[in-house]
Amino acid sequence: MTAMSQQQASTSAIELLTVALESGAVEVIDLTAPLSEDTPVIPLPPERGQPWSFRRQVISRYDALGPQVYWNNIALSEHTGTHFDAPVHWASGRHLHDVQQVPTSHLVAPAVVLDASAEVAADPDFLLGRRHVEDWTDRHGPLPAGGWLLYRTGWGSRSTDNVDFINDGHTPGIAPDCARWLAHETDIVGIGVETVGTDAGQAGTFVDQPYPCHWHMHAAGKYGLTQLRGLEQLPVRGAVLIASPLPIVGGSGSPCRVLALVSRDRR
Ligand code: MN
Repeated sequence: MTAMSQQQASTSAIELLTVALESGAVEVIDLTAPLSEDTPVIPLPPERGQPWSFRRQVISRYDALGPQVYWNNIALSEHTGTHFDAPVHWASGRHLHDVQQVPTSHLVAPAVVLDASAEVAADPDFLLGRRHVEDWTDRHGPLPAGGWLLYRTGWGSRSTDNVDFINDGHTPGIAPDCARWLAHETDIVGIGVETVGTDAGQAGTFVDQPYPCHWHMHAAGKYGLTQLRGLEQLPVRGAVLIASPLPIVGGSGSPCRVLALVSRDRR
């Protein structure tokens, strides 16, 4: 392809997208939980270090400290609210990318949705197995190379109630063998979940591999997205995910706005 025709092709694709966005043929769906002092954080044993809940302090609000200016200082952990887990988040990925090093090509990528909300409604400790994913691929085609597997559990509907959301540590996750397989034998870049973390609430007690999703995915240089909501608005396949963590230098992750582009006729 010549330089000129390459330019024409890329201009054309952007023009098509612009028209589709203007007409509503492509919709932008926000999968991000609102961020506030009430946003749930992961509960850890008391002897462990603890992530901060979101907090803020007014710098000025049209007052003596800034008559024309409203702004706040904020404080939170890298893993508070809807957020992105980078490979260095876990010991198994400690020599791999931090959040600032994640290639931007991975931050705009296709996504598919596996719906296990019925199984989770029956058992909050439900673990996704390799069999469930292979049943899904038999029906819906392959997992997206370079894209995201979004694990729909219905848990996002609990996200306005901290007690319901944490559920005394009984929240769904991914079985160790499935996490290992997804990490090392598929071409996905990451897994997105509705729960407070990518692993099950009870994953710290797993004998064979505690926190298997973190361990295996980050060992493979892959990512996590947590506390997503609204996954029921997405098609099974065909969405494009835009995940935008802050480029915190050396950071293990970041609060993240997560948007999905979907064709209106594909929902
Ligand atoms: Mn995290």
